[in-house]
Amino acid sequence: MKYSKLVDLYEHLEQTPSRLKKTEKIAEFLKNTETSVLEKIVLFMQGRIFPSHSEKEIGVADKMMVKVIASSTGFPERDVVKQFKDTGDLGLAVEELMKKKKQTTLISKELGIEKVFENLRKLASVEGKGSQDVKISLIKELISNAKPREAKYIVRTVLEQLRIGVAEGVLRDSIAQAFFPGKEKKEIVKTIEWAWFLRPDYSEIARIAKEKGLRGLRRISIEIGKPYHVLLSEKAKDLKEALGKFERPSLEFKYDGARVCIHKKGERFWFFTRRLENITRQFPDLLDLARKGIKANECIIEGEMIVIDPRTGNPLPFQMLSQRIKRKYDIEKTVKEIPIQVNLFDVVYHNGRQLFSESLDKRRKILESIIKPVPGKFQLAERFVTKNLKEAEKFYKRALHAKQEGVIVKNLDAKYQPGRRVGYWLKVKPIMETLDLVITGAEWGTGKRANWLGSFVLSCRKGDEFLECGMMGTGIKEKGEGVTFEDLTKQLKPFMEKEKGKSVKIKPKIVIEVAYEEIQKSPNYSSGYALRFPRLLKIRVDKSPSDADDVEKMEKLYHQQRGRKI
Ligand code: ATP
Repeated sequence: MKYSKLVDLYEHLEQTPSRLKKTEKIAEFLKNTETSVLEKIVLFMQGRIFPSHSEKEIGVADKMMVKVIASSTGFPERDVVKQFKDTGDLGLAVEELMKKKKQTTLISKELGIEKVFENLRKLASVEGKGSQDVKISLIKELISNAKPREAKYIVRTVLEQLRIGVAEGVLRDSIAQAFFPGKEKKEIVKTIEWAWFLRPDYSEIARIAKEKGLRGLRRISIEIGKPYHVLLSEKAKDLKEALGKFERPSLEFKYDGARVCIHKKGERFWFFTRRLENITRQFPDLLDLARKGIKANECIIEGEMIVIDPRTGNPLPFQMLSQRIKRKYDIEKTVKEIPIQVNLFDVVYHNGRQLFSESLDKRRKILESIIKPVPGKFQLAERFVTKNLKEAEKFYKRALHAKQEGVIVKNLDAKYQPGRRVGYWLKVKPIMETLDLVITGAEWGTGKRANWLGSFVLSCRKGDEFLECGMMGTGIKEKGEGVTFEDLTKQLKPFMEKEKGKSVKIKPKIVIEVAYEEIQKSPNYSSGYALRFPRLLKIRVDKSPSDADDVEKMEKLYHQQRGRKI
């Protein structure tokens, strides 16, 4: 297939805001795509050349691209930089410059999908000395054979900024429409979604849909070395409610870290996060632990990875772990500075068998049989099987005392449902004390909320000043009982000061009571703290701004949450 055909589609999608029309267009395109390039096309549509879980990276920065564009178009680098500054898009820059270029190369060949794909993939595999030059010549080869509009999309794909990004839901619906026209859409979409939970890669799913139909999709199973969407938990009001939901509940510590899926096949290991990122390289320490601690030859197990303070043995905040997840260089150094602990709680695959339909009770037994714990480092999650509220409360207190987030109450008879937030697991966490804060800014809403303020800047007090500590958009109703957007907008209108675009500055007059999930440290707000998921409880008409909670209270609550002092 010619690359220009894909570029036609890109251009069309760029001009089509309607989701339905996009879906139709993509479906038609997929239907007419030969099987041999189908996977490549689906990746290209997402602006990728590797599936999202791949560790491979193209590794070309703007600076290198400026060089390539200059040398392929014959313009000096400063012209490229100028175009880039004007538009903020090196794709547009190359397109413009190529249009301006006087001498057109007559011998240019028509670019094919395969050629573009092949050169871009090669970019990810060149390493070491001289790799820059190789990369430059790989891109240059493409650009010199491209038409201006083709060059635009090549450059954007290399820089991983396609800007037409086809959303996952649109791809799913397009695959349904392309390969199963006229069939009961809901059912088909459900099947494709299920396949995607197990194999989150639409390029592979499109190929299977085309080649093997619905039966093929239904037969998809998880594969060692590839991530899947994990089971998530729902919230319970309290322990009593959670215990009442299941005949055989089991309580586990809810550790405050990151979910990790550990895949093992013989001597090979892979680690994935809940967001499907491949973090194998970042955790050589986990590799050692998994080697020592897993007895099975082939398995996929799940646990929560946390960071432990080596001096006190206490858990440290999640932010430290995210530093390790993001770290690409000097990994060995961070391994020593930020030691991890993994608490294992599930197994979904064992020696050739997918275990989704086994009960948790059975899965936990299998997990126990294949783990040889490394105490304090690689161990089974703390758990307690009981239906007795008093005993459960004791366990819950123990979890909080151990400075964890709370507990997850799990149904021992439930199977594993990938990708879903179903009621098989119920989390119970302490409710945070509410805060009385002042509204000091807002943003106008969009769409049908365009006449109302839609999100609100929250501030706490410091002496007579007000310091920002978060943005709130929930807890406010469209209409009906409770505080509506309309009410709040009316109340704030007399105090509006400055407007800039959608943002409005508001005099600190209105005090509201706010609930939230957590207080985090944040350089983005002047108070130094940010509320996670703040939601409006009520307007405190009885309070004036000088009665609002102050930054010292935020600090105290920050340290109190999970009893942690850092
Ligand atoms: P929130 O949005 O409230 O912060 P969350 O991000 O913790 O929720 P949930 O689905 O509500 O996500 O809770 C499940 C998460 O809790 C899992 O993804 C996992 O990372 C974490 N977790 C910690 N301990 C356990 C455990 N024992 N069993 C299962 N999940 C656990």
